[in-house]
Amino acid sequence: MGHFYVCFACHHCNHCCTEVVCLPTPWDVVQIVKYTGRDPRTFLEFLTPDEIEGVAKNDPTWLQVNGEKYIMALKRDTVNGCFFLDRKTRHCTIYPARPLLCRLYPFRLHETRDGRFKAFSLHDDVGCPRFRDAKVPTQPLYEIFVQDREHQYDYHELVRAFNAKAYRGKKPEDFIDMFVEVRSPEKSVSGRSRSKGANRTGE
Ligand code: SF4
Ligand code: SF4
Repeated sequence: MGHFYVCFACHHCNHCCTEVVCLPTPWDVVQIVKYTGRDPRTFLEFLTPDEIEGVAKNDPTWLQVNGEKYIMALKRDTVNGCFFLDRKTRHCTIYPARPLLCRLYPFRLHETRDGRFKAFSLHDDVGCPRFRDAKVPTQPLYEIFVQDREHQYDYHELVRAFNAKAYRGKKPEDFIDMFVEVRSPEKSVSGRSRSKGANRTGE
């Protein structure tokens, strides 16, 4: 077993909910749909490489549509931040169902060569002020990390299947249909899946 704690305290500066683009997995999207009852098209957007930085060109979550690449993100506006950030209280309105990536920010995992847990440190290039006046237990963090890694594998499989499809009128939003069913006209939704930070450019 590695380190039991990582020194960190969130001082709720809101940087991560205003300046950072949240890239949910399909599993995360399903949890938000279950929690809010919303059609995911109301809170998701699909960004091109020109609209986001910090995502590798060969990242396996790029969706291929008619020669262009898109990545699934939570909607965010340049003034108010994340779609789910309450404009008055500045609190997350989906806190119990927030994406795993939000729970792991700004922690960075360190594992041994044979893949066992070693420690968490704090990412030094993500904009968080990284206050260290508290101790966060690492075991629950590691469990979330492992869970998210599994979801990422599922996400990559879904993207591979989506990218293999070619049909007239293909849109990046069609990817949502691979893991959430929206029943019109009531617009009720249900999860279908078994079941990452980046910065938006130009801001
Ligand atoms: S950037 Fe860091 S301190 Fe600020 S809200 Fe996010 S986690 Fe908390
Ligand atoms: S989902 Fe919640 S915690 Fe995550 S970026 Fe949006 S407001 Fe912040």
